[in-house]
Amino acid sequence: MSNGTGPKPAIVVSSCLLGVRCNHRGSASPSSKALRLADTFRVLPVCPETVGGLPTPRAAAERREGRVVADDGTDVTDAYARGAAATVELARASGAREAVLKARSPSCGCHQIYAAGRLVDGEGVTAEALRAAGVRVRSEEDL
Ligand code: SF4
Repeated sequence: MSNGTGPKPAIVVSSCLLGVRCNHRGSASPSSKALRLADTFRVLPVCPETVGGLPTPRAAAERREGRVVADDGTDVTDAYARGAAATVELARASGAREAVLKARSPSCGCHQIYAAGRLVDGEGVTAEALRAAGVRVRSEEDL
């Protein structure tokens, strides 16, 4: 029987913000505000880069002229695209209309990313794909 309170809405959250050591250095970026999202949302953790097939740790990468290129020169565009597509599918399948993604990542950044080592206005590959799919994307710094 229903208790009168509906199910929590789903939200996609960068795994590294939740304490998973999945970033390119093999460490996490835990955010207490991101962890508290579980109070009001059904949290769906995802790391697009590892879902896309990249190892941890891995070389840092940047978006460059429509591609994504790692510091060691490897073109990782396809892995980034796979991770973005999987994350969009996760949002679609779960009904998530919101995401909180790690700031300034070439996958997850939603306001700024690095280009030639400098911060510029722009989005990561997954943030851009989610937004294009109609998902509201914020960073942990927006919480
Ligand atoms: S791809 Fe996103 S979730 Fe994965 S480590 Fe980078 S910022 Fe965190």
